[in-house]
Amino acid sequence: MGKVLVIGCGGVAQVAIQKCAQNDAVFDEICIASRTVSKCDDLKKKIEAEGKSRSKITTAKVNADSVDELIALIKSVKPDVVLNLALPYQDLTIMDACLACGVHYVDSANYEPEDTEDPKWRAIYEKRCKELGFTAYFDYSWQWAYQKKYKNAGITAILGTGFDPGVTSVFTAYALKHYFDQIDTIDILDCNGGDHGYPFATNFNPEINLREVSANGSYWENGHWVETKPMEIKREYNFEQVGMKDMYLLHHEEIESLAKNVPGVKRIRFFMTFGQSYLTHMKCLENVGMLRTDPVMFEGREIVPIQFLKALLPDPASLGPRTVGKTNIGCIYTGTKDGKKRNIKIYNVCDHQECYKEVGSQAISYTTGVPAMIGTMMVMTGQWKGAGVFNVEEFDPDPYMEALNKWGLPWVVDENPVLVD
Ligand code: NDP
Repeated sequence: MGKVLVIGCGGVAQVAIQKCAQNDAVFDEICIASRTVSKCDDLKKKIEAEGKSRSKITTAKVNADSVDELIALIKSVKPDVVLNLALPYQDLTIMDACLACGVHYVDSANYEPEDTEDPKWRAIYEKRCKELGFTAYFDYSWQWAYQKKYKNAGITAILGTGFDPGVTSVFTAYALKHYFDQIDTIDILDCNGGDHGYPFATNFNPEINLREVSANGSYWENGHWVETKPMEIKREYNFEQVGMKDMYLLHHEEIESLAKNVPGVKRIRFFMTFGQSYLTHMKCLENVGMLRTDPVMFEGREIVPIQFLKALLPDPASLGPRTVGKTNIGCIYTGTKDGKKRNIKIYNVCDHQECYKEVGSQAISYTTGVPAMIGTMMVMTGQWKGAGVFNVEEFDPDPYMEALNKWGLPWVVDENPVLVD
């Protein structure tokens, strides 16, 4: 059917690319590109050696910080869709290149600048903190600003098709379509019950993960943001197939788009589970300055502490063989249908070892990579279409929900869930 150009070949991309190769009726050709082309070549060899896919796979070298390099690559590969699975830092350059070439764009995380000390960015950020009331470094304003340009160019940008954001927002559209006339509250619960046996490691890119977790929390209530100190709000929840876990309220990007796209919603919160060991390590690293994102001088050269830390920590892609246990990620909705109060929970349970057997990755990469493939498929097949910039909850959820069941992330609707106080 068509050709996808995937930028990035890290933990998430490796799953998404293997799922595209499994889905060879849709993805005739896959080009994998990043700065380290040897990684892309290794994945190509792995898929070809398995001999199960009819997709043609090619690789290329690109620095996605350069719009010119991206344009040259897109012009030579001629993809139908570009799937951005590099880092949030590259979202805008890749969106610019897609716009210049008239090609659809898909990603899994919203824009965040690499250098949060950049004065030009900082001025806009500080104004936003005051106006909107949350201090996260990432927000949708930068990418939503492309709406008119993408509309005029007649191309589609789909923002945030991982699990959260991504599946959690599609669950919300599905709940609204089939279960509610009005959704009042949304609690997104992200539980990783997996154990990798290390005292400390992150399940996806450490820099992005630690920036997110060490930041202030926030939630949406009655039309505005309420901000909390990092990890200030803690709850316990008994997750199906995982058990009782501590979870903490975080700021998370889909709260921003759901607040805009779910009419009349009164409260949206996001909770993620963390063990005590993870939190103690993180606090210590933060206290000694290892989470700093600005350059410091060390022995005559500049280093960014969080990037140095990344070099010391286990590569998330290497956790696959050692991680056991399950993830349980989903959403609890309260609201009304036909004048009656109703509560439901929609969730997926994913087993780390099953994922490893199938694609050689742990469940965090799997639960992000599969929806990245599905979102790209929605655009490639025309099941989701429209000119402009969209979040996933703005489309018909049904074909995406069907694809989740088919491609490895089956979901459950619980019509009598335990609520979070
Ligand atoms: P990794 O760090 O494992 O991989 C990042 C990839 O991007 C690498 O292959 C790297 O390759 C490539 N890359 C980085 N910089 C550039 C550049 N300048 N030019 C070209 N390629 C580049 O990250 P993950 O796979 O863990 O995460 C990928 C994305 O998925 C992130 O944006 C993350 O935020 C998002 N994510 C989303 C989730 C969701 O549920 N929505 C959950 C988890 C992650 P190289 O260095 O060789 O260039």
